[in-house]
Amino acid sequence: MAVPKKRQSRTRTATRRAQWDVITPPTLSVCANVACRAPVRPHRVCGTCGMYRGKQIFAPAAVTEQAPATTGE
Ligand SMILES: [Zn+2]
Repeated sequence: MAVPKKRQSRTRTATRRAQWDVITPPTLSVCANVACRAPVRPHRVCGTCGMYRGKQIFAPAAVTEQAPATTGE
């Protein structure tokens, strides 16, 4: 196993470890569904409408709740 030639300073170690705490905000794009347009992470199913690349992956909870209300009227 390789052995380091020189001991790293406390500052250098702390600087490297400080990078663990860096939190970057998630990249967001807009849902491809024209009716939805909710912010979604790229290459992921939309959590609001359940669509991905024009396909319905799962039934969104909001629509199933609204469906009985519209039929009841
Ligand atoms: Zn959507």
